Amino acid sequence: MADETIFSKIIRREIPAEIVFQDELVTAFKDISPRTPTHVLIIPNSVIPTCNDISAEHEPALGRMFTVAAKIAKEQGIAEDGYRLIMNCNSHGGQEVYHIHMHLLGGKPLGPMLSV
Ligand code: 5GP
Repeated sequence: MADETIFSKIIRREIPAEIVFQDELVTAFKDISPRTPTHVLIIPNSVIPTCNDISAEHEPALGRMFTVAAKIAKEQGIAEDGYRLIMNCNSHGGQEVYHIHMHLLGGKPLGPMLSV
């Protein structure tokens, strides 16, 4: 069993977070340190540490993450102007929390894809 992170406590509502969506497969909540006016994290309810650990059994949850991202983007009023979905993997990807998460970023022009 993969090690839990703080995100599992958010899923179980053991610590506070601004949850904007939750169902049996995924949870979405506002990032504690938002980089853009809209910054929501969408995560599977089961622990998948990194994108390297994704397998076919996770496809329902991963598909739901995209469906929920589109729904939240509409609800937050950023769908038409546009937004960015990002998943970081391991150290070179800048991953800090080892429970995969999709960043939904928007609410202003985001500029070039990467600044390296
Ligand atoms: P990563 O760098 O792993 O792709 O992104 C992790 C994200 O999780 C960061 O944007 C960080 O601000 C966010 N984060 C870390 N801890 C917490 C927390 O306890 N609550 C919330 N809402 N977001 C968190």
